[in-house]
Amino acid sequence: MRRTAFILGSGLLLFVAFWNSVTWHLQRFWGASGYFWQAQWERLLSTFEGKEWILFIIGATQVPCLLFWAFNGLLLVVDTTGRPNFISRYRIQVGKNEPVDPTKLRQAVRTVLFNQFVITLPMAVFFFPLLKWRGDPCGRELPTFHLFLLELTIFTLIEEVFFYYSHRLLHHPTFYKRIHKKHHEWTAPIGVTSLYAHPIEHVASNMLPVITGPFVMGSHLSSITVWFSLALIITTISHCGYHLPFLPSPEFHDYHHLKFNQCYGVLGVLDHLHGTDTMFKQTKAYERHILLLGFTPLSESIPDSPKKSEPC
Ligand SMILES: [Zn+2]
Ligand SMILES: [Zn+2]
Repeated sequence: MRRTAFILGSGLLLFVAFWNSVTWHLQRFWGASGYFWQAQWERLLSTFEGKEWILFIIGATQVPCLLFWAFNGLLLVVDTTGRPNFISRYRIQVGKNEPVDPTKLRQAVRTVLFNQFVITLPMAVFFFPLLKWRGDPCGRELPTFHLFLLELTIFTLIEEVFFYYSHRLLHHPTFYKRIHKKHHEWTAPIGVTSLYAHPIEHVASNMLPVITGPFVMGSHLSSITVWFSLALIITTISHCGYHLPFLPSPEFHDYHHLKFNQCYGVLGVLDHLHGTDTMFKQTKAYERHILLLGFTPLSESIPDSPKKSEPC
């Protein structure tokens, strides 16, 4: 207990020191470029004067959606052709989706487009007055860099809590059969399947955990656009099926798709607390669950054990 308190205490101290110095440097950079962004934002505001809701829809749905498809478009080239080889050799579940089944893929793309345009878009229209009630999403002043970083941290923590528990609830037999089974049709996921889900799941487990943070904080549209885009890129990475260098590790969620009853969260903190990652921790996937800082695929540097006794 004392040891844990000591580790947590010194960890917190180190984090605060690190946070302060990083944000100090970034704030200096932001201060220099901040005026540029402020001017761009004011130009946008005057263009959409009186029609701020359109600006909100573009920033909260269309920009993140465009980035999602740009990134997924690149990944789909690799999924459908297996090329370039320098990407496909980072595949986590070797032998799966080589190449991806075109019928399954078409069905996934149709569902994702449905979720983005028939579910997310109207929800954003509904969300705009709610956000205006909480704050001023289209206010003239852009948030400071410190506030923006603080918001990102809070958004991430809120997402972890809401996603973990809503996701675990979706694994309850009642909801699993009717709702979440669809997302799990892909035991070896690809990027675009991050949004391949039943409409109820899309609202409860994909959208709510991500939009609650901005609602709680009464955030500015600029923070919302960056956060939604980041959330979509990160969920794409965690489903993409490749453990690529210098990108967050997708091993955790990939393992969830492989085994169903492990690794429910995003960060893994709540899985650790609830013991829903104990099986994962005994696998090679767990050893590979690191930020890859070189070009040797982790499936080569940490190969599967020859004996089949391991749960991996
Ligand atoms: Zn998933
Ligand atoms: Zn699941």
